[in-house]
Amino acid sequence: MIPVRGYDGQKVAVLGLGRSGLAAAHALEAGGAQALCWDDSAQGRERAEGQGLIIHDLTTQGAFDGVAALVVSPGIPHLYPAPNPVIAAAWDAGVPVDNDIGLFFRSYATSEWDGFDTTPRVVAVTGSNGKSTTSALIHHILTQAGRPTQLAGNIGRGVLDIDPAHDGEVIVLELSSYQTDLARALTPDVAVWTNLSPDHLDRHAGMGGYFAAKRRLFAEGGPDRAVIGVDEIEGRYIANQLAGSAEEDRVIQVSVDRKLSGNGWGVFARKGFLSEWRKGRQIGSIDLRDIAGLPGAHNHQNACAAYAACRALGLGPRQIEGGLRSFGGLPHRSQTIATARGLRFVNDSKATNVDSAAKALQAFDNIRWICGGLEKEGGLDALTPHLGRVKKAYVIGREADQFAMKLDCETDVCTTMQRAVEQAVSEAQDGDVVLLAPAAASFDQYDSFEKRGDDFVAKVKALIASG
Ligand code: ADP
Repeated sequence: MIPVRGYDGQKVAVLGLGRSGLAAAHALEAGGAQALCWDDSAQGRERAEGQGLIIHDLTTQGAFDGVAALVVSPGIPHLYPAPNPVIAAAWDAGVPVDNDIGLFFRSYATSEWDGFDTTPRVVAVTGSNGKSTTSALIHHILTQAGRPTQLAGNIGRGVLDIDPAHDGEVIVLELSSYQTDLARALTPDVAVWTNLSPDHLDRHAGMGGYFAAKRRLFAEGGPDRAVIGVDEIEGRYIANQLAGSAEEDRVIQVSVDRKLSGNGWGVFARKGFLSEWRKGRQIGSIDLRDIAGLPGAHNHQNACAAYAACRALGLGPRQIEGGLRSFGGLPHRSQTIATARGLRFVNDSKATNVDSAAKALQAFDNIRWICGGLEKEGGLDALTPHLGRVKKAYVIGREADQFAMKLDCETDVCTTMQRAVEQAVSEAQDGDVVLLAPAAASFDQYDSFEKRGDDFVAKVKALIASG
């Protein structure tokens, strides 16, 4: 745990008692503060009480009297579509609003660091897609290289739950737009921007608000080194703002669209090869094509971003290559879960929207595509350019027939995962890829995308075992 500093002997209110809220409350108490906890759900309050925390109704008049700060969980709207009334009350009472990420950045460094040979560092990763994969990949590469490291934030442990730093340690944090928007301190040593596409627009009142929330990671003081995906204009804008000149190497640009061989520092992937260029010279090159854990251009983007972050941390190209090659992929993200009967089975259940499903389709050929579920806004048209790689779509979900009608390829309305897997396997030919990339949310049939992916894996394994 990281005890929160700066509130010794003071009262700090905590709104939202899920994983991060509970960890924040305990970390505040460990730092000598009194945490006054509240959650609109009785279940959340009971859980906190069971852990010995103090429940304090933050919805009552005068609830913020004598309170030094309010710490808010990421799931709670703080601005759009409307601020939670407790947050609005804190504003009215003049109480600063923060979150666990802000508390972490003000508390992480301690006087013990004076005795360390190498100062611990923090890498923070944000972007619309690929955050988890890139964060996990950086963590994996560092682990393989024998560096002490911990993974936290939106992935792994809550940020205040991690162990105090060791000498030379690197903390890798995955940060969502909700987290970067609210944190009052954001001071990573290395910050990574993977890419930007529309998401969570209701919580940010549109694309401008979404961009502004993520951009804070690069604006509040700014990192020593920034790794920026420049395939969208927003990335190019940030890269330009951070760098004083074209030669400056504070920014490492990343692309899977263009060659970055100019005077600055760039890492790009083309035709499956990663290249690092610095000051007009090629420094490193890696063949990514046969790395099973990182299929497709989208994963090559993640590989470039992770490579660049590790270079910024001082690792050499060959050390990084070893880590890339041994990365198994994260569950539910373009993960090869089996190869059997001449087929490859890939679980990309996390492809809950059209954009990420399109990336999955681009990563493979001869696809037996399991898709469908609760359709998101915006329709399915963006998938059309990639349907040439699909031999047939096996559609699941309560409204599988309607989903299938919108796809411009051969379809089979299967409704259940069981039937979809059976049909796909019975019709597949040698070399085909059976891919779960639903392009839809899972909630019509499953509690979560993880449950949906687990079901796919179970059905595939059972079928393989049956001979
Ligand atoms: P995040 O943490 O940002 O949601 P994940 O690594 O969990 O990202 O991946 C989410 C989904 O997006 C998965 O379906 C994955 O295959 C896909 N994806 C991963 N990396 C990228 C990328 N760089 N660009 C676009 N899609 C990606």
